[in-house]
Amino acid sequence: MAFTLTGGDVCQPTLPTPIPNPYWVAFSSTAAKLIDIPLNTLGLPVDPSWLDLLAGNQLNTSEQTFTNPIATAYSGHQFGVWAGQLGDGRAILLGDISGQELQLKGAGKTHYSRMGDGRAVLRSSIREFLCSEAMYRLGIPTTRALSVVGSKMPVLRETLETAAVCSRLAPSFIRIGHFEHYSSLQNITKLKELADLLIQEHYPNCSSAKEPYLELFKNISERNATLVAQWQAVGFCHGVLNSDNISALGLTIDYGPFGFLDHFQIDHICNHSDHGGRYAYHRQPQIMHWNMACLASALLPLLEMQLDENESQAILRSALEEFPIKYAQTWQKIFRAKLGLQLSLEDDIPLLETLLQAMHDSRIDFTSFFRGLSKVGLNTKLEDISVRNDFIDRAAIDQWFETYLTRIKLENINDEERSALMNQVNPKFILRNHLAQNAIEKAQTDDFSEIEKLMKILSLPYEEQPEHEDYAKPPHPGVNPVEVSCSS
Ligand code: AMP
Ligand code: MG
Repeated sequence: MAFTLTGGDVCQPTLPTPIPNPYWVAFSSTAAKLIDIPLNTLGLPVDPSWLDLLAGNQLNTSEQTFTNPIATAYSGHQFGVWAGQLGDGRAILLGDISGQELQLKGAGKTHYSRMGDGRAVLRSSIREFLCSEAMYRLGIPTTRALSVVGSKMPVLRETLETAAVCSRLAPSFIRIGHFEHYSSLQNITKLKELADLLIQEHYPNCSSAKEPYLELFKNISERNATLVAQWQAVGFCHGVLNSDNISALGLTIDYGPFGFLDHFQIDHICNHSDHGGRYAYHRQPQIMHWNMACLASALLPLLEMQLDENESQAILRSALEEFPIKYAQTWQKIFRAKLGLQLSLEDDIPLLETLLQAMHDSRIDFTSFFRGLSKVGLNTKLEDISVRNDFIDRAAIDQWFETYLTRIKLENINDEERSALMNQVNPKFILRNHLAQNAIEKAQTDDFSEIEKLMKILSLPYEEQPEHEDYAKPPHPGVNPVEVSCSS
């Protein structure tokens, strides 16, 4: 349901600014199903006015008219520092269709653009599009991407690039930053309206709780704890976990300088602008917890409407402590499954930790290793385990495999069943940076075939797809890593 709050501190009516000669770069027919767009045999909307709508060039199609597009205000902490008001600087919420909000990213300046141009470049729009849809197919909560529409209109970043508009769908784009915004303005009326809206539309289970706002906090925190555990399990680094980039629905949102790990490096930093490594892979859980603390302080005034200050603080603090517990439980559950372990035994966690340390020490490709592990059978000989070949300390990894083989013998399933279950949680195909980069470079020459091909492969990440073996491999060691920064 669309953002229904109104008022100057909340949002501003905002019209998209047209782009010249728009053309389709990418379109997700599966996302289109969410809002029932009739499609032709090419998988594009039957009604050509969708192109103009998703370019930001008009506000209607034959079926829809959006009468009240807005940009919303939010505030937040960027890189751990209070940044004050931010807001939708280049996102315009057109309205809602079939329970989804439709937003255009890069459709021109808004009231909140500050020094920015309100635009997005082709490169970053393709990255957001591909990754949103890939995450959805991995089974990880995310905002969806409907389309990328391009234009030859120049946009200045470090170099001159061209513009694109990415359209996104989500049941709600409300962020932690929206709560921080009203809380920092001490606008308790709007803070309450926002919390009530979220409860009514998305967390109805909270309304009957003794303390609905405490319950809301617990629910949001739990969803984000689960989300970050899912990220860790596929080696996804978000890159900019500022509180304004954290969804109140526990969705992955605002794809910028994200990256999937190729080789495993626990402190990998995917965002070239993140000099201190605040958002490194191993810090993501702790940072998400920190963001939940921002949400807790923002919600404090709502609890204080019922309880005294000390009690409000105490119950929020203790709810906040549930985050690492939920995170650890989810992480352990998923990583056990990645190893093919159904039983939960005490020694499993040290077994996992030893493995991850060895993978880090040898910079083992994260995705290929876990995928390859499913080929290890109860009676496989050490020398026949191919995923052990890339480890530098062979003695240490052999010892680990001996323990692992003993451990999987305690499970009550055969090799075939274990392998099938493991292949449901260990993807073979992820959006590796070099694959996205290849698709972008082709698109920059108006060849969009690689985007389509990637979309197809990544739509079945857990399937073998032997004809696409190359897409499962890490980048060639001689290839320079793609550097991705906040600029987009
Ligand atoms: P991000 O880190 O990309 O989520 O962006 C942080 C803030 O900067 C948000 O308020 C964005 O809307 C805003 N922003 C980013 N890029 C632009 C741009 N090109 N024009 C206007 N605002 C922008
Ligand atoms: Mg953002």
